[in-house]
Amino acid sequence: MERPASVVKELLENSLDAGSHEFLIQVEAGGRRLIRISDDGCGMLRDDALLAFERHATSKLSDVKDLNAIATLGFRGEALPSIASVSRLVLETRSHDEAVGTRVEIAGGKILTCDEMARTPGTTITIRDLFYNVPARKKFLRTEQTELAHIASLVTHYSLAHPDKRFQLQHGPNELLNVSPVDEIRERVYQVFGSQILKDLIELQDQEREIVIAPPSLPPSASLAAQLDDLREPSVHRLRLRGFISGPQVQKMNRNSIFLFVNGRLIRDKLLLHAISAAYHNLMPPACYPFALLFLDCDPEEVDVNVHPSKTEVRFRHGSVLHDFVRDTLRNSLTAQRPIASISAPASFGSPPPQAVAELPYSDFTQRIENQAWDQIPSAMMSVPPPVVEEEEGPDFTLHRPPSPPRRFDFHYTQEQGAVEPPSFAGQRLRVPDTHGAILPAGAMAEAPTLEVLSDLRPLGQIHDSFIVAAGRDGLWIIDQHVAHERILFEQVLRQRAAGGVEMQQLLMPIVLELNPAQQIEYDRIAAEMNGLGFETEPFGIRTIAVKAAPAGIATGDIERVLFEVLEIAEIELRKVSLDELRRGIAASIACRAAIKINMRLDQRKMEWLLSALAQTEYPMSCPHGRPIALRYSTREILRSFHRI
Ligand code: ADP
Ligand code: MG
Repeated sequence: MERPASVVKELLENSLDAGSHEFLIQVEAGGRRLIRISDDGCGMLRDDALLAFERHATSKLSDVKDLNAIATLGFRGEALPSIASVSRLVLETRSHDEAVGTRVEIAGGKILTCDEMARTPGTTITIRDLFYNVPARKKFLRTEQTELAHIASLVTHYSLAHPDKRFQLQHGPNELLNVSPVDEIRERVYQVFGSQILKDLIELQDQEREIVIAPPSLPPSASLAAQLDDLREPSVHRLRLRGFISGPQVQKMNRNSIFLFVNGRLIRDKLLLHAISAAYHNLMPPACYPFALLFLDCDPEEVDVNVHPSKTEVRFRHGSVLHDFVRDTLRNSLTAQRPIASISAPASFGSPPPQAVAELPYSDFTQRIENQAWDQIPSAMMSVPPPVVEEEEGPDFTLHRPPSPPRRFDFHYTQEQGAVEPPSFAGQRLRVPDTHGAILPAGAMAEAPTLEVLSDLRPLGQIHDSFIVAAGRDGLWIIDQHVAHERILFEQVLRQRAAGGVEMQQLLMPIVLELNPAQQIEYDRIAAEMNGLGFETEPFGIRTIAVKAAPAGIATGDIERVLFEVLEIAEIELRKVSLDELRRGIAASIACRAAIKINMRLDQRKMEWLLSALAQTEYPMSCPHGRPIALRYSTREILRSFHRI
């Protein structure tokens, strides 16, 4: 048992195994003070109630045939005893077959009392003071909010997997989730995430694939081969995939909106995450993630759940087949849908408040594999294709894309090529005859751009109303107008924040937003910081807030997106526990929404303003998200291309 959320997970699974339809989960102080789960399941007989705390006592393996079930359910009979050994636990239960219930009280693994009690059929397990007797573990517990976030995420996951059941989650007096039984997953998605997300979701057609596994090839040694004949029959395994995915317009900044269930159990799996990313390859920027709610069903032999004791990691026997099946199914659904770029309509007061996809807080599932899962993806699959250089316009030259976001003023991709050449003109090439004009004034050949160079760029025009082309004393520059403005605004917001106030715009009508449980938790945590960055928000009923003012420059229609984005950032930043990171993340989000877009014509004055404001920024070479702002075609490159050096 690592943390309160792991306890909740074990107890919830027990309740599910007991055939329950109603789950009430109550926690206090992020689960440290109290975790209580009540269900309406089959309950336990008095003797079984005591037995449940013996190690390896499980009611779930009644005969040898059931041993197969170990494959799906994992090793049994470990959870209750281990929870009871690190907490004060009270079990109250009544089986449908008994008229009276049983109450067992345990502390630190020792049974204190065992009495009869009156109660309805079902089970209630109350855990107080988790880890009270394990001081080392107690120290490692994160803040209450973090632990609560893990629990909220977990319960939300389970509620999505079981739409036909009722889930209630309460934190002290606050209700974080309360969903009644519905017929379809679609309706459950609506209950949890609101109407907005449904519009962005594509329902997968129920997809099935059979994997035919070829028999192992054996040497043709006569009689043995004959004996093994039936073993050599190809075996057929069935895979089934259902669920929802978002169109590429939904771009989440973390993986917490990816929900994976294999045979009904919540899992995290690198292979499946990779298959999802492969499906969205080229449809979405590499650092973005979709919303996905996927249910994969397969033969129990296909999946080994005992790789990790908490059973959240699995190993598939035919991983690559499965990977391709998931990737292709997703990709086919995405292309069949032909999603068009979404134009966000201005949110108006009174219409149902759209909700962002639940930015469920990371959980221990996500966390454990967090750093490996996507980092191990071959970079070829994750990288964006190099920008296409338009050939029909202008001379034929190639701009090299930097391999990674360029460092400040370091256009090493051009520099590196120049660096191997001797700095003088005494190269192998013929000197250019004088009739072609004088070689450039001193200074023009400088390879390393400096701040001064940037400040006297002269805008010549735009390409595609998106990229400013500018002449500089060291060559030709192409500047992405959106990311350039983003950088300017980002630093401006942070400067204003440090000086005490970010410029705000008062809204004529407050925007009312409904938050999901996870967002509510994040909101409570960072409301003050958000207000410092130019949002004026206040609680407005249950899990609802009213936005009365927003940072200047953000279009009204974008405000709610920024807000949800900010809550999402909060969740990522939670891990780093750094206020500074959080603040920078929020500023980046504001800057991105307020910045001029691409495909926008700019007049000369605006372009000049943009370039000079960019020159004054601290890091003019990459945007807050790490994308390059400018490309430079150096004078040396130009000269070389014209064979003048
Ligand atoms: P396992 O779930 O692997 O069997 P646990 O330690 O989690 O092991 O639980 C031990 C036993 O306690 C279970 O096999 C089950 O019989 C009983 N049990 C636990 N929780 C419940 C519940 N909510 N309702 C009915 N029986 C339960
Ligand atoms: Mg169990």
